[in-house]
Amino acid sequence: MPFKAVRADKTDAGQNVRFVEMDEAELMDGDVTVRVTHSTVNYKDGLALSGKSPIPRRFPMVLGVDLAGVVETSQHPGFRPGDEVILNGFGLSETHFGGYAERARVKGDWLVKLPGGWTRAEAMAVGTAGYTAALSVLAIEAAGVKPAFGPAVVTGAAGGVGSVAIALLAKAGWSVIASTGRASEADYLKNLGASDIIDRATLSAPGKPLGKERWAAGIDSVGSTTLANVLSHTSYGGAVAACGLAGGMDLPASVAPFILRGIKLLGIDSVNCPMAPRLAAWARIAGELDRAALAKMTQTIPFDRVFAAGADILAGKVRGRIVVEIG
Ligand code: NDP
Repeated sequence: MPFKAVRADKTDAGQNVRFVEMDEAELMDGDVTVRVTHSTVNYKDGLALSGKSPIPRRFPMVLGVDLAGVVETSQHPGFRPGDEVILNGFGLSETHFGGYAERARVKGDWLVKLPGGWTRAEAMAVGTAGYTAALSVLAIEAAGVKPAFGPAVVTGAAGGVGSVAIALLAKAGWSVIASTGRASEADYLKNLGASDIIDRATLSAPGKPLGKERWAAGIDSVGSTTLANVLSHTSYGGAVAACGLAGGMDLPASVAPFILRGIKLLGIDSVNCPMAPRLAAWARIAGELDRAALAKMTQTIPFDRVFAAGADILAGKVRGRIVVEIG
């Protein structure tokens, strides 16, 4: 049976990204076939949908870094037909066909079982952005930094990573400072658990190598000067999880916070993250993320709207998370 997919093809004029009809015979190798019911739009999906970014590393490529669905056939011992599964990253939309298609054939080793009691739509409301927020919280905790040491700052606060990070940190007892460029979202951020809101402009201009100590921990999805300033204001012994580049890929920082305050910079990668921390992040989400709060940060769109949503996320207009209904 033919199915609908968003595919990037390479042409002489660049990438051609569009809806196409595909056939199961065109799917890539894998030991599990999934009927995809939901996906999502992360920042990286916005980049890929624009057709101007080198996210696909081979062509043709089905886009979508996340999927949730139901196993149809499996040669993998861990999965049976009917199992509800999630897949985040592992090269989807880059080197392996992704979640913007009604069918996917993938490696069973990449799949996570849907947490008990959760829906597939909720899993995609979390998506790569939310699971990355959970990896970031776990990294800060593993570094031994605790709420008793002081507040935590979250940059890109009203975005996907930021929204879930605020909810998880607040639940774990942190006093959360939310840095946003959208003052109009102050109530939204406070409802998620932020205690204070700061204007992101206060972190985006070059600052001192070692600023006043303002927070013990940080989750940064912005990068560049913002991350440099987050580091500069981190208190003695603190830790910052760097997971994004919404403001730029550079890091114009100094070593002062590391050698004078002993702070730690924690790199977060969701794509090739091994299964043990991946499962720990999903367990944390299932156990601690308030589903009512998740619903408040999520909008649901039909598959046809995915290009418009991709443009919106790149323009910084999306609040929280987007679920895409695929099948
Ligand atoms: P969103 O677009 O939902 O969130 C990003 C937020 O950053 C925006 O909502 C906005 O927040 C802020 N922002 C946007 N542009 C700028 C700018 N020029 N300067 C300062 N702030 C800006 O994206 P996601 O949450 O999906 O992803 C966030 C980042 O994390 C992306 O760079 C993404 O690529 C990265 N990422 C990395 C992963 C990893 O594995 N390391 C996994 C997932 C995401 P506000 O309006 O509140 O200021």
